[in-house]
Amino acid sequence: MTSIGISRRVSVLKPSVTVSMMNRAKQMQASGIDVTSFAAGEPDFDTPESIKQAAIDALRAGQTKYMPTLGDMTTRQVIADKLGRENGIPGIAAENIAISSGGKHSLYVLCHCLLDAPLPNEQPWEVVLPVPAWVSYAPIAELAGGRIVEVPTTCESGFKASAAQIRAAITPRSRMLILNSPSNPCGTMYSESELREIAAVVADAARSIAPNLVIISDEIYEKIVFGPIPHFSIGSVPEVAERTITLNGLSKAYAMTGWRIGYTGCPGEWGKQFTNAMATLQGQMSTNITSFVYPAIRTALKECHADAKRMCDAFASRAAVVTKRLNAIPGLTTPTPTGAFYAFPDVSSYFGRVSPAGKRIASALDLCESLLAEAHVALVPGEDFGGCGGNHVRISFACSETQIERGLDRFGQFLASLRPA
Ligand code: PMP
Ligand code: GLU
Repeated sequence: MTSIGISRRVSVLKPSVTVSMMNRAKQMQASGIDVTSFAAGEPDFDTPESIKQAAIDALRAGQTKYMPTLGDMTTRQVIADKLGRENGIPGIAAENIAISSGGKHSLYVLCHCLLDAPLPNEQPWEVVLPVPAWVSYAPIAELAGGRIVEVPTTCESGFKASAAQIRAAITPRSRMLILNSPSNPCGTMYSESELREIAAVVADAARSIAPNLVIISDEIYEKIVFGPIPHFSIGSVPEVAERTITLNGLSKAYAMTGWRIGYTGCPGEWGKQFTNAMATLQGQMSTNITSFVYPAIRTALKECHADAKRMCDAFASRAAVVTKRLNAIPGLTTPTPTGAFYAFPDVSSYFGRVSPAGKRIASALDLCESLLAEAHVALVPGEDFGGCGGNHVRISFACSETQIERGLDRFGQFLASLRPA
């Protein structure tokens, strides 16, 4: 039977380490093991009641049939209004909005509408990606035929690529530049001036060597901001607005990970053409998202600012606890998180040591495996985030302060128990 085989495309596809660590921790918990999990990139809060009620009402009213592929115009208009009002994106209309089944699905669809497998004698399209970056960007872009051009960043720079680095990475084959602020896994953010500098580089490159270059600005953590840097949307900068696809969704801001709602917005005439291309692909892929969810999207975006703020305040106070606790553990270097719900400490000073069970810790992956097996704490190893990520582990603090205290106690004790080889 094994000779039947699986497609080459999927055989080489890397599974998502964030999803697999999250599932492993959940399985261990279900089997009765007291695991403290910092693996899941999902808020621990329940979806606000008014959002649930909107979906329940729509379900009861019979909104249970197929709907337009990218969403009904009323909901797309609500998203366009939000992107104009809150993010300053100029001239964006309902026709420039595509609603998909989660931000991950939006990313998948948009990559397939921008990238192609290269023809014989053609160089692949390039995707400029500052790393460490969320584990799904590279596999999804590569699946669509793109070649990743990593822009390495450092802990000292808050894991941010400079405009000069971006300029140096752009070539005539550059098709996408992916930015993610606030960042998963780093918890850091680009300032408005940094993004304006990057926008100027892209606008300049687009006029000269890279006319096909598009910015993908993943702003899924925009509502979870608690440091001194306000969120800024690069799509609001006029000179790049019509070549910026803003990617967002409701998973993180409104605690709606299981609902699977993502969207993109790209203004202007090309933005409309691009959105129509997304409709063609999605129409052959998944059609519309669950129909009775559309009113819930409108409720969330129009009425739930206080709920988003309440959850953000909780993340802010957890971030303070996590930062204080991590800074007190010897040998760790952690840039202070200012957004999202991740801390990304450098743990490499512990590499080369041996765990109490006799396992040699040579990497972040080894550390996470031994930590889970021996101390029952789940973190995500940093290797698959790329770049210097291999020296780091990701701690998602989307859990209660009690769990944070308990889990970081165990983490600190485990690190202290590591012995020289
Ligand atoms: N972008 C980033 C940076 C993320 O961390 C996630 C988390 N899954 C997503 C996009 C997609 O989220 P979802 O598919 O739940 O909308
Ligand atoms: N984005 C979350 C994370 O990074 C959820 C899992 C995933 O989709 O990657 O953990």
